[in-house]
Amino acid sequence: MRTTQTQLEVDAEVTLFGFTPTPIVVTILPRSRRWRVTNALATFLVTVSLTAPLVIFPPHAVWLLGGLGVGTFLAHRRYIERFTLMSATGQCPKCEHTLSLSKMRLRSPHPLPCDLCHHESVLSLPRGTLQGHARD
Ligand SMILES: [Zn+2]
Repeated sequence: MRTTQTQLEVDAEVTLFGFTPTPIVVTILPRSRRWRVTNALATFLVTVSLTAPLVIFPPHAVWLLGGLGVGTFLAHRRYIERFTLMSATGQCPKCEHTLSLSKMRLRSPHPLPCDLCHHESVLSLPRGTLQGHARD
């Protein structure tokens, strides 16, 4: 595991039941509490401001509640993003196709779908990789 400033570069594995795990290198960015709160608020405000003009159309309450609900949902997703998976370089355990993914919230376990064979592998980080890197 190498640390460059705040990003972690981790040697991990891609596992798929019935196939030999393949190595993968992932870059993970720990997110601070300040970043999560700021982005959650921004997401909420943008979502609500985009849906607010719809309130002039009937049924008014549905648009209002829908905007608040979607805004809350998206803001919550931002708030719980303790780690962001920035990049991953590895191969599918089944077909050896190169896995590609865009920047996203790191989930546990994190799914890695294959564009070629459409099987969904799982990212296995070495035990304890993220401990001590959470930037509460
Ligand atoms: Zn595949």
